[in-house]
Amino acid sequence: MEFVDLRSDTVTRPTPAMREAMARAEVGDDVYGEDPTVNRLQEMAAAMLGKEAGLFVASGTMGNLAAILAHCGRGDEAILGNKAHTFLFEAGGISALGGVHSCQLPNQPDGSLALEEIEAAIRPDDAHAPVTRLICLENTHNRCGGTCQSVDYTRAVGELAHGRGLAIHLDGARLFNAAAALGVSARELAAPVDSVTFCLSKGLCAPVGSVLCGSREFIRKAHRIRKLLGGGMRQAGILAAAGIVALETMVDRLGEDHARARRLAEGLARLPGLSLPLGMPATNMVFLALDASVPFSTRQVVEELRARGVLVGVSGKRQFRLVTHYWVDDAGVAQAVEAFGTILA
Ligand SMILES: *Cc1c(COP(=O)(O)O)cnc(C)c1O
Repeated sequence: MEFVDLRSDTVTRPTPAMREAMARAEVGDDVYGEDPTVNRLQEMAAAMLGKEAGLFVASGTMGNLAAILAHCGRGDEAILGNKAHTFLFEAGGISALGGVHSCQLPNQPDGSLALEEIEAAIRPDDAHAPVTRLICLENTHNRCGGTCQSVDYTRAVGELAHGRGLAIHLDGARLFNAAAALGVSARELAAPVDSVTFCLSKGLCAPVGSVLCGSREFIRKAHRIRKLLGGGMRQAGILAAAGIVALETMVDRLGEDHARARRLAEGLARLPGLSLPLGMPATNMVFLALDASVPFSTRQVVEELRARGVLVGVSGKRQFRLVTHYWVDDAGVAQAVEAFGTILA
């Protein structure tokens, strides 16, 4: 069966153009810095984000980890959200591997951290306290519903951080989605931060990889950490080639995914027993709640949908997450709404 796979945009397979570019890719040993395709991807990414340099990494998790380890020493503190991907879904790597202490602030419903709470969380110069070193933001914010952080907000956090001698890292796994939704460039969104990661392997459809961008000096440091983490990948140009095609062909079409997410949300919200706990989608994610009155478990609904060719993610008790992407077309959106409708009728 052909599935309409709405579990995540990580399920996106490479496009035919990507496979072709991969087959033709010129490669070299990237640990020596000799892979021309990796070098080209890194330069492209850095230019698009307005940073001096880029580093191709195996995953967004590795990019965030390398970045935070480059900013913080053991025992230093990083301020992040209590719904941050880095806090919830990266296996605790910053503390397990970096000895980095985390200070979790409540994410606001829009995914931001309140400026006054950041300010209050910065430690005094006191021997009892860890040294605050870093503030981490996330854009779009996954767990808060794919919400966007504005240029103004990012700038305000940047000013706060830099005014207090702190660095700021942006987990921009879906930064290009935020840029598309806000009608600004990714470069503007990344301008206030010292380092930024984005994923090639989500809405941009590449099979593997993320890019970490920052100053030349910062990337030199992160390059050594990538090696330490086992992320020196040799002839990685095969993978980077798909990333180049992703940047060339997939960035400008993300608005289509957002429009489909909106249509999907509208169709589903009309059905009995379903609601949108986080409201209309800001980008490509629809969070859906199953009313207590519906006589099925979350799991039963997932199985019934699967039997009708529709795959969805579960993001909590009686809550689903549906993510639109390149491989979900209008017919797929209609099929998903119809499948929910049949099950809940
Ligand atoms: C997906 C994601 C990551 C990184 O995920 P990988 O699967 O390691 O590539 C980081 N941050 C956010 C917000 C994400 O959604």
